[in-house]
Amino acid sequence: MKYTLPQLPFAYNALEPFIDARTMEIHYTKHHQAYINNLNALLEKYSKLADRKLEEIMSSLDSLGLAEKDKNVLRNHGGGHLNHSFFWTIMSPKKHTDERLVSEIKKEFSSIDEFKALFKQTAITRFGSGWVWLVRAKNKLQVYSTPNQDSPLLQGHHPIIGLDVWEHAYYLKYQNKRDEYIDNWWNVLKFF
Ligand code: MN
Repeated sequence: MKYTLPQLPFAYNALEPFIDARTMEIHYTKHHQAYINNLNALLEKYSKLADRKLEEIMSSLDSLGLAEKDKNVLRNHGGGHLNHSFFWTIMSPKKHTDERLVSEIKKEFSSIDEFKALFKQTAITRFGSGWVWLVRAKNKLQVYSTPNQDSPLLQGHHPIIGLDVWEHAYYLKYQNKRDEYIDNWWNVLKFF
């Protein structure tokens, strides 16, 4: 199965001024596309994986008997494809408030503000490239970051919110100011 770019649910400029159109276009058409190209190239070598869902592949990566080098390609580029596909769906120029999620977050982290502070701190302290996540892990909400394109699915966790903190996600507009990017990003997260 050949993966292709999923439809972007908004225009490149829809998240302005918080995420600029140029960053959005390059992120989607160049970075995301590159993960897909590398993923497709790898899958051509493994016909046994052709019919398996990518989510399933990621959560059982160690048991597939792949060469270490190929496992890393899947981890990085399969993860890259899944993470970005997910990322586009949780952002919107309009809020679609998820009351159930809001009350779950309040229950786990006391308040939305405390959750945001923890999420931001986790994002700022991720050294180098990676993602910060709110995941469901055994029915409990957890915040943590992952390096590179590592997906929470590698640990069997279900992502609920994910923020790309690779420089390619924000550098054109924010340069080195990752903290400003994070503060502004809440405006385009659709859930609250
Ligand atoms: Mn990215």
